[in-house]
Amino acid sequence: MCGIVGYIGAQQAPPILLEGLGRLEHRGYDSAGLVVRADGRGPRALRVAKRAGRVRDLAAALPKRFAGTAGIGHTRWATHGPANDVNAHPHTDADQRVAVVHNGIIDNAAALRERLAADGVELVSDTDTEVVAHLVGRSQADTLEGKVSEALSVIDGTWGLAVLHADFPDRIVVARNGSPLIVGVGDKEMYVASDLAALVRHTTTVAMLDDGELATVTAGGFTTLRHDLTATAKAATPVDVDPDSYEAGVHASYMHKEMLEQPAAAERMLRGRLDERFGATHLGGLNMEPREFRAIRRVKILGCGSAYYVGQMGAGLIEDLARVPADAEAASEFRYRNPIIEPDTLYVAVSQSGETIDTLLAVQEIRRKGGRVIGLVNVVGSAIARECDGGIYLHAGPEVAVASTKALTNMFLGFALLAVQLGRVRDLSIADGTRLVTAMAALPGLVGQVLAKEEQYAAVARTLAEAPSLFFIGRVRGFPVAREGAQKFKEISYRHAEAYQTSELKHGPLALIDPALPTVAVVPADDLTERNVGALHEIAARRGPLVVVTHEDVDLGGVEAVRLDVPRSEPELDPILMTLPLQLLAYHAALHLGHDIDKPRNLAKSVTVE
Ligand code: GLU
Repeated sequence: MCGIVGYIGAQQAPPILLEGLGRLEHRGYDSAGLVVRADGRGPRALRVAKRAGRVRDLAAALPKRFAGTAGIGHTRWATHGPANDVNAHPHTDADQRVAVVHNGIIDNAAALRERLAADGVELVSDTDTEVVAHLVGRSQADTLEGKVSEALSVIDGTWGLAVLHADFPDRIVVARNGSPLIVGVGDKEMYVASDLAALVRHTTTVAMLDDGELATVTAGGFTTLRHDLTATAKAATPVDVDPDSYEAGVHASYMHKEMLEQPAAAERMLRGRLDERFGATHLGGLNMEPREFRAIRRVKILGCGSAYYVGQMGAGLIEDLARVPADAEAASEFRYRNPIIEPDTLYVAVSQSGETIDTLLAVQEIRRKGGRVIGLVNVVGSAIARECDGGIYLHAGPEVAVASTKALTNMFLGFALLAVQLGRVRDLSIADGTRLVTAMAALPGLVGQVLAKEEQYAAVARTLAEAPSLFFIGRVRGFPVAREGAQKFKEISYRHAEAYQTSELKHGPLALIDPALPTVAVVPADDLTERNVGALHEIAARRGPLVVVTHEDVDLGGVEAVRLDVPRSEPELDPILMTLPLQLLAYHAALHLGHDIDKPRNLAKSVTVE
């Protein structure tokens, strides 16, 4: 969460910083700020501009002659204190000699604030971050690196941070512990950022800091250090990214662009991983032998939000195809309940960004107890990808919209690949393996067919958007689909949407059904169709409006409902095709209601705080 960007070189920093912040805004967007080193004659000084609101508000309000060739900037996702001008970053020490931007949480901020206040320091904001600026400002160390390291030595928590100091005008010092920090190398100029997205227009030669590392960045280069100030001698390396993949292009929003990219993203995910001859899959990154696969007795999947729901779909796939007990749990809960880690369980961590702190800490807990974890991660080289014993990269390309779409689809495919692999070392027959592999190869095309019906979904969405509250229901394979559908809907349309097992409806929530409460039902053609249709009758009898995501050959028995038919795949793969219309329903409801689709209120991409 939050975006950090920094520049030092010969160009004017403010335009570069503002442009970079614009690219990171999806990671936090309640306030924004900049600090530059004023380059004129006279005593060296820092100039700060910050305010609540979006980066564009900051740009519009920037004072005239706000100039300097070194600076750092921030977009905030508030954890401590409301989103107002004072709490916006950068934060400075009392003399305005030190400015800090920070991503993460200082856990012992309250104690440090008290201690600073007792020493006569006046704290002006409510943030945890401000203490860092005072601690750096008060350090007696000779170097800026020494001051920052001394400050960090008394801080508990997580940080990606950047520090500018008026008395050390030739440098920016950055540090990482639990929140990404990247140094970008230019030609006699250098950049820092919390995400590659802010750098790719300037440079693709980068160094990613590790936890516990600091870096000194000057116009001429950078050096990396440990907290004891010994060098870690990290070199920058080129990354293979297409800068255009970070642009929304002709689309009105990133979410729209990313939804429509799903056929191509799915294609990339499957490339080279399907073996039709043996009805098997290749997953080289798992670093596991068939013998090790056979030894697995359970699979435990961990993720947060949509990654948790797709994990539930994945658990279903694994149980169906490999007949290995599998379940998914919210990583944010798992890590707090002293989980039992079993040696013959395969743990799977699911995260688009690879930085989701709850999932990362769950991975660390499992590994500490000797468990084996693999990652389903989109961002190459991210923290979770590095911590895991092996993994399956999602190859979805950059995902900018807060609401995950193409990454989620590829997570599902990752589970399908894994389930076939696990199944084929056990009892999944070659014929069944081939059935699945062939169906997977056809999926990108089917995804395209579902998306092509966007206009139909848009019309339905506009009606649903008028309801203050709605149900999403499904059973067994359909239930995680309903959960994901409800999550998307509430996340971007701000309408209350509750997911329920279709089977549980009459055990309580049916009491809510009336003409004002629509239900979106997931009804695939499978063994449970008849029972699902029975539940639809019960809703219709109470005059509840119905939207049914189903297959063409499903007979709804005369129930009055709006049908959204999706093409059939193999039943195990149906959940992902049924998820797609729900993405579009949420999108068009939010569009109809006039919401900022890519930046839903109160949220941010990549949840890097606990
Ligand atoms: N904890 C800091 C604050 O509330 C930083 C939040 C962020 O990561 O944006 O200001």
